[in-house]
Amino acid sequence: MRWGIIATWEMALEGVRHASKMLENGLNAADSMEEAIKMVENNPLYTSVGYGGLPNEKCEVELDAGFMDGNTLSVGALGGIKDFKNPISIAKNLSEERFNIFLVGTGAEEYAHKSGFESKNMLTEESRKAWEKRIQEMKDKSLSPYDGHDTVGMVCIDKYENLVSGTSTSGLFMKKKGRVGDSPLPGSGYYADSQVGGAVATGLGEDIMKGCLSYEVVRLMEEGLHPQQAAEKVVYEFSKKLEKRRGKAGAISIVCMNKNGEWGVGTNVEFSFAVATDEEEPRVYVANKDGDKTIYHLA
Ligand code: ASP
Repeated sequence: MRWGIIATWEMALEGVRHASKMLENGLNAADSMEEAIKMVENNPLYTSVGYGGLPNEKCEVELDAGFMDGNTLSVGALGGIKDFKNPISIAKNLSEERFNIFLVGTGAEEYAHKSGFESKNMLTEESRKAWEKRIQEMKDKSLSPYDGHDTVGMVCIDKYENLVSGTSTSGLFMKKKGRVGDSPLPGSGYYADSQVGGAVATGLGEDIMKGCLSYEVVRLMEEGLHPQQAAEKVVYEFSKKLEKRRGKAGAISIVCMNKNGEWGVGTNVEFSFAVATDEEEPRVYVANKDGDKTIYHLA
């Protein structure tokens, strides 16, 4: 059986490389993907995820994360959690619960504390400075407060045909306190079904959640579409629908992988992603929209 992992944005490369070694050595998809996402969360240089993430309008780092197990369809998710080191691990833990699988704010923090997860002040000096700078730019150049966001999302399949997906993000820069994006919403930010495949999204959460786009990609793969066709169809048809009904569509990028380790990407903006399989070295690609197709090349 094949193994594979695909992830949003170049920042995921190190994690993808690490996970690919774990998968090659026979570790399972859930643990491999968790480690990969934690590497992104723990790196303060990646300012849109985890430690050093971009703060909300009150200069607080509120984090969203989601995890889905494609065998049991179990989901665990967090919205707006503060001061915990690895949201993906907390989301994974929640996916093992029967009830109360999606927790927000102080409820999520209490659960994380009781379950023994490490707490940490996730605001770095750099992210505080970025916040101050943006406040100034908003005054001087009327720059949109929301420019600056990127979610790490991954789909991972192991040698034993287990397939999982997960996301972790600080969401939109300068978001309102309490704002939750698509990333922790199953079906919007991520979806996984081991008998079919998985998908994850990044971009403007307010638009992604209007189309339940990750679920839609998995549904099309189940109907027999190749992951590449499924991702392109969902991104472009939904972008067009938004343009028609609302006048514009925000940034939407999706990566997906089916149960055979075949993968695809669809995007309406320039977008980088990382992928590794038993047949492909860990690599980063840059994707772009070309009509109703997504073209990509090695970074
Ligand atoms: N989708 C995320 C959100 O809206 C942000 C991103 O992926 O860039 O919170």
